[in-house]
Parts: sequence; C-alpha cells; structure tokens
Amino acid sequence: MRRFELYDTLSRSTRLFVPLVPPKIGLFVCGLTPYADAHIGHGKVAVTFDVVARALRRWGYRVFSVQNVTNIDDRLIARGGETGTDPLVLADRHIAAWHGAMDRLGVTSVNYYPHATDYVPEILAQIQTLIEKGFAYAAMGSVYYDIAKFPSYGALSGQKADALRPGARVPPEPGKRAPADFVLWKAATPGEPTWESPWGPGRPGWHIEDTAISVRLFGARYDIHGGGLDLKFPHHEAEIAQAEAATGASPLVNFWMHVGLLTMKGEKMSKSVGNVVGLEEAIDEFGPEVVRFFYLNAHYRSPLDYVPGRSLEESAEAFRTLSQSAGRIRAAAASAGPERVGDDLPAELANAAASTVEALDEAMAQDFHSREAIAALFQWTTRLNENLPALDSLSSESLAAILGPYEWAAEVLGILVGAPAADHSTLGAAVEVILAARARARARSDFAEADRIRSELAEAGIVIEDDGAATRWHLGGPDR
Ligand SMILES: [Zn+2]
Repeated sequence: MRRFELYDTLSRSTRLFVPLVPPKIGLFVCGLTPYADAHIGHGKVAVTFDVVARALRRWGYRVFSVQNVTNIDDRLIARGGETGTDPLVLADRHIAAWHGAMDRLGVTSVNYYPHATDYVPEILAQIQTLIEKGFAYAAMGSVYYDIAKFPSYGALSGQKADALRPGARVPPEPGKRAPADFVLWKAATPGEPTWESPWGPGRPGWHIEDTAISVRLFGARYDIHGGGLDLKFPHHEAEIAQAEAATGASPLVNFWMHVGLLTMKGEKMSKSVGNVVGLEEAIDEFGPEVVRFFYLNAHYRSPLDYVPGRSLEESAEAFRTLSQSAGRIRAAAASAGPERVGDDLPAELANAAASTVEALDEAMAQDFHSREAIAALFQWTTRLNENLPALDSLSSESLAAILGPYEWAAEVLGILVGAPAADHSTLGAAVEVILAARARARARSDFAEADRIRSELAEAGIVIEDDGAATRWHLGGPDR
C-alpha cells in the first residue's frame, strides 16, 4: 500500500494518512439532495471523490465508498409544493437522473448510496441517545441539539455559534433555547411526509441523517468524510457534535476533505442565483472526459471558476492533445504484432514511461494533486511527440509500455479511457463462450434457456441477433 499525505480541514494540516483498520478505508461523502437537476458544481464533488477512491484502490486499500442521498429535506418539500409533486416521488425522479449522469461521467467507484428515509429507525435511536445523554431536548413536537453542551462546536469551521446571527437564515422557532441550536427532529407540518416518533409525527433534520447512517455503516469513527466546502458549517460541525456526543468516541473522522466550490464569474453556482450550468448539458456538449478534465486540471481544494463560452472550450482543446496521442498509440497497439519484441524502443523512453507512471502516483499521493498529474501527462505527450520512433515499427510490448501513463490516467482519473481494442476483444471472446452455450441450449431445444441467456446479455448491454445458423452481437440495447 502506497503511503500518501492528505490535508485535513479540522487540524488545518497535511498529514500522513494512516487507516483506522488497514487496509480498509471508510469514505463517507455528502451526496445529493435530489430536488433539482444536477449542475456542474455537483459533478466536481462527485468526480473528486471518484478519483480519490480509484487512486486508493490502485494503491491496495480496500475502500468502502458511501454517498448518502438526502431524499427528505426542506428544499425538496418546497419544490414538491411548487410543482404539485409528492416530494418523495420528486426525489426518486432526480435520483434516477443522477445515477444516469454518474454513469455517463464515469463515476464508478461508489459502493453504496444510502437514502435517508431508509434509516429512520437509526435516526430515531440516535436522537433518543442524545436526549438521554443531555445533548438534546424536545420542544413542541420537535427535538433540538443543545449546542451549549458541546463546547468544541465550531472547531472545524472556526465559526462560533454566537457568530450565527439569529434570524439571518434560521427563522425563530418556538421552543428553541438558543438560535443556533439545530433541529434533529421536525414536528409534522400538514402536507409533508411524516414518520412516527416518541415526540410525535415528524421528519428527520438534515444533519442527523448523515451520522445515523455513518455510525450504522462505519461505527463510531471512520477515516475520511468528504463534501463540498459549503457544507463545512453548519452541516459538518453538527455531524461532529451529534456523533461524538452520541457515541462518546472522538474524533468522528480522521480526515475532513472539503472540495473547493465551482463558481461562475466568482459566484457560487446555485439555483437561487440562477447561474446554473446543467451537468447533463455539459456532458452532451463536451463529452464526459472533457468535463472530468476541466475539474481535475485544478487542485480539488481550489475554487474553480467557470467562464461560459471559455472554460470547457479551453479544456476540450487542451484535452485533445492528450487524447490524440493516446488514440494514435492505442490504434497502433490494436494492430501491432507481438513478434517484433526487442530493441525497437529506445531504452530511455521505456524507462521514462515507468518513471512517469511513478510521478503520476506520487502527484496523487500529495493530497490528490490531480493538476500535477495532468501536467506530467502533458510532459509525457511532448516527450513522445519528440522522440517516438514510427509507431508501425513498434511491437505490441513496446506500445504497451509507452501507453502506461495513459492507462494510468484511464484507471485513476477516468480520462483517456478510449475504446481500447484489447478490451473489446476480451469481451468478444467472453461473449463467444456465452453464445456457444446458448447454441448448445438451442440444439437440445431448450429455448427457455436460450431466451434467458439472450435477455441477460441484453441487460448487460449486449444485443444478439440470430441470422440463420449464425448469431451476431453488438453493444447497445434500449437502455444504452
Ligand atoms: Zn451531509
């Protein structure tokens, strides 16, 4: 397992990462609140943690990556009211759209997307514990966290509770002891989805969902909590206060990772400001790899400013340099024979390929510095363009060596994935094995089995067509 350093927002320092239980790493990321279509700011957070998990797995860690879904929330209820839609139905619709966008964007690393509404028993139990331990109080059907009982509240963000101006964002609520006390359980309001509780019908507050889920999945402490920088206060402060008070264990997480916000001309991208660029639209226009490249060509903690008509256009142009080089070499590799093994590649270039891969891993081992990794990919491309012998003179082994840095990019950054011929031929061999089994089923008139194989292949995105005795196949199908 590679050693790596990671910046922690709570200690405001970059430290060597040590897993709580090697080689496992628990990664919890605040995921979507499915009240609107995703914009490119959401994509930045998702791609950041996708790349983190991919790198950690490459280095031998066993990552359990969780992104919760806040499928019950004020904004969701408000939007449902505006559109006359049941908020839970509205949520499901946006969750499905989110998964579609994540598939297109190549965000493949998340193990589990728990929905808040599936954890109501855990939420109720954690609130009960907080009341019993004196950290929370019930008032008029709601339950609040008493932040005066948790003196280190504010340590993560450096914001103190008294800095919260009463009435600024939180409307006064009868029964609350202090304006900054936050809600754990909200008493039912007519027309809203509600659940039964010891304090009467109501619904969970936002912050309690995360810690009810994380304590359930990871226990009292875990390795990394991630999210957008805008969640640091009050959301993540509240999480620390809830979990540490409920479990008695501290710290809740060893590393807090916060992703710099995506802004448009310096302003946070948000529905309420009206400066939103849809994630799907950006993917439609530029393709998923250019969108990933745009995010990753900056350090994850930096703010990233999006300039309409310029940012993704420039990313597309820069990315083309890399993708053309990778594409040329992959095409040559697809047709090269293995026979020309030998000294067809200058040793210096072969060594440089290996040291570039090492430099790429090292860039990521320094607080996931993807921008430095991309710089190393450009250096490698320049070097290839200057020193590469004619591609058709190279053996498949040599081509594989010089593809190394690009294959690294595909594995870790999820860019330059291409459509490698080698993968397709491996898939083809596997499909042929399955089709032979289906042909045997048909030969013995077991048409039910033959149909089952056909529909399971279709579900996997492989369409087969019987043409007389022959069966052809292709990638596709109604859902792809
Ligand atoms: Zn959260």
